[in-house]
Amino acid sequence: MFLEPKCHAGSIEVISGSMFSGKTEELIRRLRRAQIAGLKTAIFKPSTDTRYSQTAVVSHDKHSVQSIVVSKSADILALAEDSQVIGIDEAQFFDNELTAVCRTLAFRGARVIAAGLDMDYLGRPFGPMGAMMCIADDVTKVHAICSRCGSVAQFSHRLSADDKLVSLGEKNTYEPLCRECYAKLSQVKELVNDTCGCN
Ligand code: ZN
Repeated sequence: MFLEPKCHAGSIEVISGSMFSGKTEELIRRLRRAQIAGLKTAIFKPSTDTRYSQTAVVSHDKHSVQSIVVSKSADILALAEDSQVIGIDEAQFFDNELTAVCRTLAFRGARVIAAGLDMDYLGRPFGPMGAMMCIADDVTKVHAICSRCGSVAQFSHRLSADDKLVSLGEKNTYEPLCRECYAKLSQVKELVNDTCGCN
């Protein structure tokens, strides 16, 4: 269980994992605890995320926190000016300026918590998330449960033929899979067979 930083200097936390791994739930949990502590909070999400609501960060279990929708990461700098704890949801959809923005906020003394998918549906690092993990003080990897075998899942397998990277995750579009089930079902099957040589 993640516990809040004890000092009040700035910091950067990253919460990452596959679809249905509880990233947004964990982000909301940390934001709510900061609110209980009497800290001024703000939460931002990219304008490409239109699931359920335009004005709230909504997780799959319907818990939500009001948020500010921005079109680029630089907007966060101006809008978060007097916030002590800053949440960023769907961080993988932001531009690569996000790391510089988060560093600036942290050096200003803010606690920044960014949640996002670590990998796209092809298993590649997603947007700025790899760099975000490098600059973070703390990284929390959360996991889903494999929908095929019940093991711990870290991959988001796309069920539709749509190959748009920004396609958003609903239950009928993606399923969480463990590595073994992902290798069997996804486009990496050929890659695994080509390079491994053990099959
Ligand atoms: Zn599995």
